[in-house]
Amino acid sequence: MATVEAPTRPRVRLHEGPFVNEPLTDFSKEENARQMRAAIEKVRGQLGREYDLVIGGKRVKTTDKIKSINPAKPSQLVGLHQKAGKEQVEPAMSAALRAFESWRHTSVEERAALLFRTGDLLRERKFEFAAWMVFEVSKNWAEADGDIAETIDFCEYYSREALRLSKVEAPVQLPGERDHLFYIPLGVGAVIPPWNFPSAIMAGMTLASIVAGNTVILKPSSDSPTIAAKFFELLEEAGMPEGVVNFCPGAGASFGDSVVAHPKTRYIAFTGSREVGLRINKVAAEKPEGQIWIKRTVLEMGGKDAIIVDADADIDSAVEGVASAAFGFQGQKCSACSRAIIDERIYDKFLEKLKTRVEKITVGDPTENPNMGAVINEGSMKDILGYIEQGKKDGRVITGGARDTKAGDGFFVQPTVIADIPPKSKLEQEEIFGPVLAVIKAKNFDHALEIANDTEFGLTGAVYTKSREKINRAMQDFHVGNLYINRKCTGAMVGAHPFGGFNMSGTDSKSGGPDYLYLFTQGKSVGEKIS
Ligand code: NAD
Repeated sequence: MATVEAPTRPRVRLHEGPFVNEPLTDFSKEENARQMRAAIEKVRGQLGREYDLVIGGKRVKTTDKIKSINPAKPSQLVGLHQKAGKEQVEPAMSAALRAFESWRHTSVEERAALLFRTGDLLRERKFEFAAWMVFEVSKNWAEADGDIAETIDFCEYYSREALRLSKVEAPVQLPGERDHLFYIPLGVGAVIPPWNFPSAIMAGMTLASIVAGNTVILKPSSDSPTIAAKFFELLEEAGMPEGVVNFCPGAGASFGDSVVAHPKTRYIAFTGSREVGLRINKVAAEKPEGQIWIKRTVLEMGGKDAIIVDADADIDSAVEGVASAAFGFQGQKCSACSRAIIDERIYDKFLEKLKTRVEKITVGDPTENPNMGAVINEGSMKDILGYIEQGKKDGRVITGGARDTKAGDGFFVQPTVIADIPPKSKLEQEEIFGPVLAVIKAKNFDHALEIANDTEFGLTGAVYTKSREKINRAMQDFHVGNLYINRKCTGAMVGAHPFGGFNMSGTDSKSGGPDYLYLFTQGKSVGEKIS
């Protein structure tokens, strides 16, 4: 098998010391705001460029294209991308298989150094990368900056993790033997991210894959291929050998589905909706001709996350937590608070304060850094407005309730709070993925927990209470992968809050945690008799 030519790479240099999260940027400081404005202008000058597929290091064009547009200004083209179809599956697979033969033998130090270099480059250009997200997915500055900071964290954290795994020893040494435990790569992985953390999740699944020695076919979301193209260029600049990641934007239902089904695909790392996750699980479970393994699936899916506010809670702090978790990035986070479950003793007071707080939220073009930008696309806006109409029948609109035309001609939706939503109703059960908060009245804490747990999902949740006993109760009985106490349910930090949900929220992969890289490796035990 031919080996893959690696570009000349800088010396292996590993970062030392324990992992520390990348600090978030304080945009109230004029110097930071100035740099962000400059980055926005720079990126504005680069909008509308064409990007190629990159398969085995070769630039490839297709007849079909993907147009990535600015959700806040739909007439503005952010990037024109090729659209990988079924005919690109074999070339991408061959390139990834070829690269695997040398990449799996590349030392873990070199693989980790690639991630460290990528993180360093990204740190230097964080404003520019954040600016791409402002245009492509309508994140405001803090949200875009958080996404990039998390991407840098993944570069730093997974490389340290790979180095740690490479030094693991068998827990017991039998007398007369030398016993080893190696974590070796799996093979070629399909990495299929969503658009809502277009840098962090796309990069996180890719980086974990390659630092563990796998090679990747990366199919970014059609709503956010430009930020992925920029990240791919960064990997190349950091010295990634050809074919280690193959950059293939394409339609999920054709290209994505075919890569998942391919007999040489060893694993699928997916983050996205429940429907697509379940489809991938099903397709991956089949054994096509020529497949000699059971495909591994890492599937992180949707949520219907709740914040419980107890009668004795600090109401102001709970209002702040609910408002920012419900409406940050327009409610388009898997961890977003889409249900506020409030004890009946403070229900009216809470609603009154929440209304005042939410009515202060600004909506507009994110280049000007309002609190909220547009939702991702027209289809999504229509779905969200459909849920709002349903909510008007099932509950009482406290604020919002319509498209925000004042904000511009983009896909703007008013931050919407709908009270008196009954448990088990559509708005209480289904993921909306937009700026719509359902408020539900609970008789007491037990009732609140019962409502919170009564969906198919189990991703994030939060409880505001002063009672130690109730905190303990929530720790035990609130069935979510990521629980927060007296703080909002969004904003998981790499290392501190390994992320992944229960039930229909996915396979609980715990990205950004010490278990994550095991999902991208297989353990090989070697017992060697010594004389
Ligand atoms: P989506 O499921 O529509 O798409 C996700 C990815 O799957 C995209 O790249 C898409 O092109 C691809 N895809 C679609 N059909 C496919 C198929 N048949 N085979 C292979 N790939 C296919 O999700 P989205 O709209 O991009 O993202 C929003 C969803 O992601 C929400 O449900 C949200 O909760 C979830 N999400 C979950 C997490 C988490 O960690 N649990 C994090 C972020 C987002």
